[in-house]
Amino acid sequence: MQDMQILRAHDVLSSVSKVECYVCGKGIDDGHTITAKTLPHGIVLFCDVHYSLQ
Ligand SMILES: [Zn+2]
Repeated sequence: MQDMQILRAHDVLSSVSKVECYVCGKGIDDGHTITAKTLPHGIVLFCDVHYSLQ
């Protein structure tokens, strides 16, 4: 079960071209933590700031 969760997280990160915030465009390179969130229209990524605003 744990292996499946790891695989799913890897699939999420590899399914997007850039790991950056959907709102502000900041990414890990800018020192932000990026979190994936599944919305009705698909998977979007948020930085630590904008994820808490959702
Ligand atoms: Zn952001």
